[in-house]
Amino acid sequence: MKPRDRLRIAMQKSGRLTEPALDLLNRCGLTFRQSRDKLFLFGEGEPVDLLLVRDDDIPGLIAQGVCDLGIVGRNVLSEYSFTDGREAGPLAEWRSLGFGRCRLSIAVPQEMNYEQPQQLAGLRIATSYPGLLRDWLRNQGVDAGVVTLAGSVEIAPRLGTADLICDLVQSGGTLVANQLREADVLLESEAVLAGPRTLPTDERGDMIELLLKRLDGVMQVRESRLLLLQTSRQHLDAVTRLLPGGPQPTLLPVAGQPDQLMLQALCAGEVSWRQLEEIKKAGAREMFVLPVEKMLA
Ligand code: ATP
Ligand code: MG
Repeated sequence: MKPRDRLRIAMQKSGRLTEPALDLLNRCGLTFRQSRDKLFLFGEGEPVDLLLVRDDDIPGLIAQGVCDLGIVGRNVLSEYSFTDGREAGPLAEWRSLGFGRCRLSIAVPQEMNYEQPQQLAGLRIATSYPGLLRDWLRNQGVDAGVVTLAGSVEIAPRLGTADLICDLVQSGGTLVANQLREADVLLESEAVLAGPRTLPTDERGDMIELLLKRLDGVMQVRESRLLLLQTSRQHLDAVTRLLPGGPQPTLLPVAGQPDQLMLQALCAGEVSWRQLEEIKKAGAREMFVLPVEKMLA
C-alpha cells in the first residue's frame, strides 16, 4: 500500500452516526469539502480526510490499513473481533464518543417468563451479531441455536424462523411493536473512535495525538454543566457535600445579605432533577444548571 501523509478516518456514509460524528469533528476544528463521487470528505485546514462507508466495513478498513481510525458503534467493533479470518490483530477503542448509545440485548416474546439465560437452552435466537451472541452464550454455559440474519431481526419470531432475538435496543419501541420485550443485556454500546492498538510513528501519529487532545477537550466541555445556586453560610457544608463531582466550588458574597452566599460549581456530567431536589432540601435555592460552551483553564 502507498504510504499516506494525510490521516484518513472511516465513518458511516449515511445513518445514525453520520451527523453526530461530523458535528464532533467540526467541534474539533476540522472542516471538510465533499469529493465528486461522495466517497471522501477532504479536510480543508488540517491533513485529515474522511472515508464514507457502511458502518460494518469500518473495522476491516482499519485492520487492512486503508484507514487510520474509524468512528463506529462498539457493537460493530466488538463483533468484528469475532470475525473469522479478520485481517489483523485486535483493534483498540481509543475514545468513547458519547453518542449512538444503545444496548445489544436479548429480547423475548412478551408472554415468555424470562428469569435467567439457562432458559434459552435449545431455543433458536435470531441476530446480526452471531460472534457476540455465541460468546455470551458460551460464558453463560447455554447451548442455544444462533440464526444469523442481516436485517429485520425483530420479525423473526413472528415468522417462526427463531424463538427470540438478540438485537440493538435504544428506546424499546421496535420491540414493543413486535410483541417482544428486553430480557437481558449483552453489551452497552455507543460510538467509539477505533484504531489499531499501536499508532503510526510518522506524521499521522502526531496528527492522531493532536486529534485525541482536541477530542478530550470537546468531550469535557460537552459533559460539563455549570451549577449556580444561593445558600446560607449555615447550610453551606450540607449543600457542598451533595454537589456532583468536579473542582472545588467558587463562593461569592450576596450584596446586602451577609449570611447568604452565591455558589458556582463546575459539574463533570448531567445534573438530574433528583440531585437538584436533594440539594434544595439541604438548603439551596435559586438554582440554575447551565451548559458550558467553551472552557480554557
Ligand atoms: P449502514 O448502512 O452503515 O450499514 P446500519 O443500518 O447498519 O447502516 P444504523 O441503523 O445507522 O446502521 O446504526 C448505526 C449504529 O448506531 C449502530 O451500529 C449502533 O451502534 C447505533 N445505534 C444506536 N441506536 C440504535 C438503534 N436503536 N438501532 C440500531 N442501531 C443503533
Ligand atoms: Mg450496518
